[in-house]
Amino acid sequence: MGVAMTDESELRHLTRCVELAAEAVEAGDEPFGSVLVDGGGRVLAEDRNRETSLADQTQHPEFALARWAAEHMTAEERRAATVFTSGEHCPMCAAAHGWVGLGRIVYIVSSRQLGEWLAELGVPAPPVRTLPVQEIVPGLEVHGPVPELAGQVHELHRRFRARL
Ligand SMILES: [Zn+2]
Repeated sequence: MGVAMTDESELRHLTRCVELAAEAVEAGDEPFGSVLVDGGGRVLAEDRNRETSLADQTQHPEFALARWAAEHMTAEERRAATVFTSGEHCPMCAAAHGWVGLGRIVYIVSSRQLGEWLAELGVPAPPVRTLPVQEIVPGLEVHGPVPELAGQVHELHRRFRARL
């Protein structure tokens, strides 16, 4: 896929995703953060991983944003929106994204890259297989990885695992 289009405003949204991921680590949650932006570039909602603090393994930010979008946006608005996220959507979140008809995804780190990092850190494989978003939502416009910010995300995963 490649990067092609990470302009300044997109990098700003992705940097916010890293900040949210850092907030998650501080709260004892896994380092994932996501931002929902409308077709005009305005931030509508943001969230971070809350798996540990809510004791629910489905509390991923991308899922929360898909639900927010279903509740607050028209179908047309959802199609024009972009979800920026620190890590590529997992299959659960990709499905939620696809079901509510959201538009583009821009992620910093691919699921494949994250899987390699976690394996290096000795983390057991997750119970749900990771797949590229396009395998879950055919035809969706997806951009990533974004190497400029990947090092920061990697560091957050190291920090989270060091705290366990
Ligand atoms: Zn997910």
